[in-house]
Amino acid sequence: MSTKAYAATSATTPVAPFSIERREPREKDVAIEISHCGVCHSDVHQVRNEWQNAIYPMVPGHEIVGKVTRVGAKVTKFKVGDTVGVGCLIESCRTCASCKEGLEQYCESGMVGTYNGYEKGSKTDIAFGGYSERIVVDEDFVLKVSSKLDPARVAPLLCAGITTWSPLRHWKVGKGQRVGIVGLGGLGHMGVKFAKALGAEVVVFTTSESKKKDALALGAHEVVLSKDDAQMSAQTGRFDFVLDTVSAPHDYNAILNVLKRDGALTLVGAPPTAAQIMGFALIMKRRSVGGSLIGGLKETQEMLDFCEKHEIMSDVEVINIAKVNESYERMLKGDVKYRFVIDIATLRS
Ligand code: NAP
Ligand code: ZN
Ligand code: ZN
Repeated sequence: MSTKAYAATSATTPVAPFSIERREPREKDVAIEISHCGVCHSDVHQVRNEWQNAIYPMVPGHEIVGKVTRVGAKVTKFKVGDTVGVGCLIESCRTCASCKEGLEQYCESGMVGTYNGYEKGSKTDIAFGGYSERIVVDEDFVLKVSSKLDPARVAPLLCAGITTWSPLRHWKVGKGQRVGIVGLGGLGHMGVKFAKALGAEVVVFTTSESKKKDALALGAHEVVLSKDDAQMSAQTGRFDFVLDTVSAPHDYNAILNVLKRDGALTLVGAPPTAAQIMGFALIMKRRSVGGSLIGGLKETQEMLDFCEKHEIMSDVEVINIAKVNESYERMLKGDVKYRFVIDIATLRS
């Protein structure tokens, strides 16, 4: 099926109208008419080849929501008309230890990314993401989305949501804990909502004084301006867990310093350059640093179900797809509340 899309054709050109071919649904495939697609900071990193692994042409987008229009003969989980989501991965080997545990994002053969990769088993067939009218995905990599929720506000849950939910669950964040969220962007604002919903006392670390009021409204108990040394040292040794969502290089040692003995810092933000961590920042209080990649299918569905039950959704600014390059620039300036979401109807018209 010929499908309208927006693509980057090099690291230095803007994303622009492009035409792609989607396969006819195979027996286990679901064909989805996309209604909304979120704009993740990873789209910018990849479109501009900041991670040095870009494959062009690149149709970005891995926060996809839409409706099922066709199903293959052997599809059992979905029917035409269902509201569904697709996140950051569309396939994996399905047989390794990680896949068997439902941790397909850590597939030992490498998960198949929704974009900036090749379709399973191919070295030439580029996978194209959600800045497009439709997508065809194996049903095992499709999520159920409640039709009661606003699809524009659900779309960011497929990446920003699961990427913050998964480490909060893995590190068992909950009642009685003091938890820091560093960076109030797309990921960070979901981290605040989830940590609060899980019962933790939440503190936002931000470089933007202007976001203080919003942080409190999102559920933070306290806001710390991370550029202010006095505010940072007042937090020394007070945190059980900190989730760092920052997209650019910054000082991790200052953040480690706010952890208690045995506290953990988990990185989800993925700046393209190496970080310097002082051994002593860890040694003196038995602190640890970890990382976390999106989430598997099972956990993503659990997160979506939790969001439906607790009416948790992203705070979004819906945009015309023609504004997507502008949205990248605004995101880089921190001028987003708190996720841009493309109305894919603007691509069809
Ligand atoms: P975003 O909306 O742009 O938010 C990033 C936030 O980081 C900004 O709003 C800003 O918050 C803070 N920040 C930016 N530059 C900074 C600097 N120089 N120093 C300190 N703070 C700074 O981006 P996002 O979509 O949430 O993504 C965040 C990062 O996570 C990206 O690197 C992305 O690639 C990565 N990511 C990782 C995964 C994963 O699986 N691990 C999944 C998705 C995305 P304040 O204004 O509050 O300071
Ligand atoms: Zn993402
Ligand atoms: Zn695997």
